Amino acid sequence: MRLKNKTALVTAAGQGMGRACALALAAEGAQVWATDVKASLLAGYEGVANVRALPLDVLDKDAIQRVVAQMPAIDVLFNCAGYVHGGTVLQATDDELNFAFNLNVRAQFWAIQAVLPKMLAQGRGGSIINMASVCGSIKGLPNRFVYGTTKAAVIGLTKSVAADYVADGIRCNALCPGTVDTPSLQDRINANADPEAARKAFVARQPMGRIAQAEEIAPLVVFLASDEATFVTGQAYAIDGGMTI
Ligand code: NAD
Repeated sequence: MRLKNKTALVTAAGQGMGRACALALAAEGAQVWATDVKASLLAGYEGVANVRALPLDVLDKDAIQRVVAQMPAIDVLFNCAGYVHGGTVLQATDDELNFAFNLNVRAQFWAIQAVLPKMLAQGRGGSIINMASVCGSIKGLPNRFVYGTTKAAVIGLTKSVAADYVADGIRCNALCPGTVDTPSLQDRINANADPEAARKAFVARQPMGRIAQAEEIAPLVVFLASDEATFVTGQAYAIDGGMTI
């Protein structure tokens, strides 16, 4: 039980990596506040030990503040919510860029602003984990202009928070997955004229010759949340089946 006595807040925990990570954190003994904008996705947490599931739209700054205010303690924040926009710089609109910045970056900024004062007041440090992607400042990918731009910003945000609060024992790291088999990836595949070819193209991005399962990402989040990672901060962790070798 590596996370006994820790309380964690996870955004976008309704499906995909957020859900896999919330379950893994809870299995290690953390008290997990699993949140998602889609309340219907939270039904799956019924009866799961150590999980309190509740709706939260991370685009609502006040709602984030209200959830954090309810929490008796906060040791871990996993900012997982995000969205993949497809298209080049010439195809992106202002509205799309604004929406992606709000969901992929500003919501993380709001959540960090909400939890940091509480972490500082507790005086026992904390771990903030931000969902980025290999797509961004690590690697440019075709048709991911808006996505890559926002996910690169997440890495800058992460390093900045890490630098400012390192002396307080608050660590901040970014997660940079390659392609992961989640409901939204399946949607991106299905949106293609030839879904079979689209899946093959996603698989081909990883030299390992496959797409990750969300459960393969969760152990890194557990590690970063735990006291095994007390010397780790300001890092962008690629977990990508060799995509960036
Ligand atoms: P997903 O995209 O299938 O699910 C996303 C979840 O986010 C859904 O449950 C949805 O309801 C929730 N959500 C959407 N808007 C929200 C909001 N405003 N407030 C709260 N929750 C909201 O899951 P995924 O593919 O695991 O993606 C999770 C994160 O991982 C995203 O930030 C994504 O960019 C990132 N990522 C995904 C991949 C991949 O290949 N799947 C790779 C790298 C990074």
